[in-house]
Amino acid sequence: RQNETLAMIASENHASEAVLEAQGSALTNKYAEGYPGERYYAGCEYADEVEQLAIDRAKELWGADHVNVQPHSGSQANMGVYLAMLDPGDKILSLDLTHGGHLSHGHPANFAGQTYEVEQYEVDAETGYVDYEGLDELAHSFDPDIIVSGYSAYPREVEWERIQETADAVDAYHLADIAHITGLVAAGVHSSPVGVADFVTGSTHKTIRAGRGGMILCDEEYADAIDNAVFPGTQGGPL
Ligand SMILES: *Cc1c(COP(=O)(O)O)cnc(C)c1O
Repeated sequence: RQNETLAMIASENHASEAVLEAQGSALTNKYAEGYPGERYYAGCEYADEVEQLAIDRAKELWGADHVNVQPHSGSQANMGVYLAMLDPGDKILSLDLTHGGHLSHGHPANFAGQTYEVEQYEVDAETGYVDYEGLDELAHSFDPDIIVSGYSAYPREVEWERIQETADAVDAYHLADIAHITGLVAAGVHSSPVGVADFVTGSTHKTIRAGRGGMILCDEEYADAIDNAVFPGTQGGPL
C-alpha cells in the first residue's frame, strides 16, 4: 500500500532505511531501566552510548539544556511533564480537540482529562487562528497551573511568546507540544519554543523522521523532576 498509494496524513512519514535498521537492531533485546551511567541492569554499556548519542543530537538539533529521549511516544512525553509538575486536580488550559488540539492535552477520554481540571481555548471561527485574546481572558479567569500550546491540526505558525506572556501573567507553566512540527523547528522554518516555554515535548516519528518515540526538552532546573516522572514515574525500560 505504501509503495502504490499516497496517503497525506500529516502525522505520518516514511522512515529511512537507517531508522528501520536501528529500530530492528539487537538493542531491542536489552532492558536498560534508568539513565546512561545509572542503570538497574547489567550490560548496558552500549545502551548508554546510544542513549547519550540521542540526547546529544537532540540538544544540538533543538538547542535545549536538557533532553529526555525515553518517552515511548508523544503522549507519554506529555504525561511525563504533567506528572512532574502537577498534582491530580490541578488545572490545564489547552486548545479544544475539535479546534486542532490533541487527546493528551486534556480530552475527557484521556487520562489527562480524567486526572486534571481542564478548560479549553479555541480558534477564531473567522480566521482559523488561535484566539489569543480569548486564551488570555480564559487564563485570567480560570487561573491554570499549566498552559499547553502546540497542536495536531493547526496549519499556522504558533506565537509561542504571546502564550508565554499569558503564562507569565497568571504564573502558570507553559508546555509547547511540537509533535507535528519537530522537523520544521529543527530546520528553522517554524519558530522554536525552546528557550521560551518551560517544557517542549514531541513525537520523534513525525516530521523529524526518526523512529517511533517521544522526547521532553527543558531547562536544567526541571531535569531531575522530568527524568523521575518518565522513569520510574510512568514507564519501565526505554525503547
Ligand atoms: C501526535 C501528537 C501527539 C502524540 O503523539 P503519539 O506519539 O502518537 O503519542 C501529542 N501531541 C500532538 C500535538 C500530536 O500531534
